[in-house]
Amino acid sequence: MFENLSERLERSFKILKGQGSITEINVAETLKDIRKALIDADVNYKVAKTFTDEVKEKALGQDVLTSLQPGQLMVKIVHDELARLMGGTTVDVNIKANPAIILMSGLQGSGKTTFSGKLASMLKSKRGKNPLLVACDIYRPAAIDQLKVLGEQIGVPVYAEIGNKDAVEIAKNAVKFAKQNNHDLVIVDTAGRLAIDEQMMKEIAAVKAAIQPHETLFVVDSMTGQDAVNTAKEFNDRLDFDGVVLTKLDGDTRGGAALSIRTVVTKPIKFVGTGEKMDALDTFHPERMADRILGMGDIVSFVEKAQEMYDEEESRRLSKKLAKNQFDFDDFMGQLTQIKKMGNLKDVASMIPGMGKALKDVEFDDNVFKSTEAIIHSMTPFERKNPEVINGTRRQRIAKGSGTTIQDVNRLLKQFDEMRKMMKMVSQHKMPFKRK
Ligand code: GDP
Repeated sequence: MFENLSERLERSFKILKGQGSITEINVAETLKDIRKALIDADVNYKVAKTFTDEVKEKALGQDVLTSLQPGQLMVKIVHDELARLMGGTTVDVNIKANPAIILMSGLQGSGKTTFSGKLASMLKSKRGKNPLLVACDIYRPAAIDQLKVLGEQIGVPVYAEIGNKDAVEIAKNAVKFAKQNNHDLVIVDTAGRLAIDEQMMKEIAAVKAAIQPHETLFVVDSMTGQDAVNTAKEFNDRLDFDGVVLTKLDGDTRGGAALSIRTVVTKPIKFVGTGEKMDALDTFHPERMADRILGMGDIVSFVEKAQEMYDEEESRRLSKKLAKNQFDFDDFMGQLTQIKKMGNLKDVASMIPGMGKALKDVEFDDNVFKSTEAIIHSMTPFERKNPEVINGTRRQRIAKGSGTTIQDVNRLLKQFDEMRKMMKMVSQHKMPFKRK
């Protein structure tokens, strides 16, 4: 995400490196580059200009006696400005009412239905809600089926009225149904068109007026660049929505939409979609997005994700085993499962600062663990607990059973042995590297 923009910015900061201070002259070139990078990244021209003007004003006002390098200082200024441009602080979705009603809007294909499912799943698992999904697309029966499939996947019921062509009535009935069935959250997915059209706008405005949602969200495909900004503006003029959802930020997007939408419609971005799966949804954090654009990685999200998956009990058990050098292949397998739970390997790895760029051209295979798992599965329970008994004959049998080669098995056993030694040292605070 955003690689293009962050690389360009990095290059423009280099110009400032080695300069003693930020002056009108040496900053001009950098600012020009930043502006160009932003425009190329699909940031609205006016937004880019205002942005660089403000950065300039802040930069020139800086005390030249600062202990920072001018380049570093510029990174900081640009970072803070980016975060400010994207809204400054995180804005939560309003789900206090009972039932809280959330209405989706956006063009067809923007990812509305997918997002409705993701949001239901997130609010159910993280905020203890009992959601009801409502299929209000009266034009495409396939859209109703799609929502039903998603609902089933995440264990959330879907309200639909097959054959009813009145979206307002369906939405009203759905809210009634939710009240009767103790759903404290109603998420209404509406019909979208490929382009803005009057009838669609009228219909969604009528649905909004009828059910008075506590939150109207506008869903937009971030890959559509400048168009995303224009569509956002039109929808906002008609619906006065409360927040924006940027989808498909996992794709080859230039990210400019995130930067401009907030400025143009003055509504906060609340969520970002980062994949097709139901858990590929993140709350939008302006500060972190700015970190990410500047290629500093999103270490906070990374840590949070890791913490979510972290099992304290298990970790205590493991460290005891480590200290006694009893770490075995069952534990190893458990660790692999933990890592896989964190999601797509490349996504996880690219959140580590500095990794995003390094991983740009690397093909990551999520099946990288498959052969390792196959090898471990082909061991007997006794062998897993006592890896030292795995001799030549056993190795041959394991290789055959797992469809790998004896070299693969040898490699894994060697790695495991080294890992065990290293872990033992770490657990006894004998670090395998010198302290400074
Ligand atoms: P709708 O017409 O607005 O309801 O859009 P859909 O929810 O049907 O999404 C359109 C397509 O975009 C589907 O193929 C989705 O799987 C895909 N999609 C939705 N959100 C994301 C996302 O965040 N990332 C990626 N890569 N694909 C997405």
